[in-house]
Amino acid sequence: IVDVTTLRSWLIRFAGDVEEHAAQLTELDSAIGDADHGSNLTRGLKAMVSVLADGTTPPSIGPMLKQSGMALVSSVGGASGPLYGTFFLRMATSAGECDALGPDSLAAAFRAGLEGVLARGQAVAGDKTMLDALIPAVETLEAALNEGRPFGEALKASADAAEAGRDATTPMLARKGRASYLGERSVGHQDPGATSTALLFRAAANTMI
Ligand code: ADP
Ligand code: MG
Ligand code: MG
Repeated sequence: IVDVTTLRSWLIRFAGDVEEHAAQLTELDSAIGDADHGSNLTRGLKAMVSVLADGTTPPSIGPMLKQSGMALVSSVGGASGPLYGTFFLRMATSAGECDALGPDSLAAAFRAGLEGVLARGQAVAGDKTMLDALIPAVETLEAALNEGRPFGEALKASADAAEAGRDATTPMLARKGRASYLGERSVGHQDPGATSTALLFRAAANTMI
């Protein structure tokens, strides 16, 4: 069971992990983008953490995730702000007003978030984007829960799948976002957004169990 406090810890842990890896995320984005992924996300997640910490956090999951998503959307100009913002906003709608999510409701919220990123960005698997970490993370969580594996194990498998998906972006040719302007020259570099998404699911495995 994942309650409001646990979800807050997840988001705060993600923000800290991104800040810790900001230089690496920016370095990856300097190879195939405009060298701002680390700073974009750090800025957005700082805004998110400050609303989560200012004492006005709603006591219910959907509204809390909505507040978090709005903070991201309104503070990041780059592609990643609206995409991550959409992920949390769609999770919010899926979760609704409740105190806690069971494993299946959490997976459903992640699925809703994924559908939001697909709709917003119009990218597909293999385009060398954050989706290449996000899709396997969500699918692996769903499959593990369907197989009856314990929640903690399922979350770890999901984080492992996100990291494998992140690694698999290296040989891909970018078809969406700034990296796609490079064409063949995008091959051989790990996608920054897939790298931050792997941090999101590792943070979930580290805080929700
Ligand atoms: P910008 O490209 O505007 O500078 P960021 O550098 O913060 O934004 O984020 C870049 C990341 O956003 C990419 O590495 C990729 O993972 C992700 N991305 C870009 N476009 C899309 C899209 N259409 N769908 C999904 N993810 C995308
Ligand atoms: Mg960028
Ligand atoms: Mg940019």
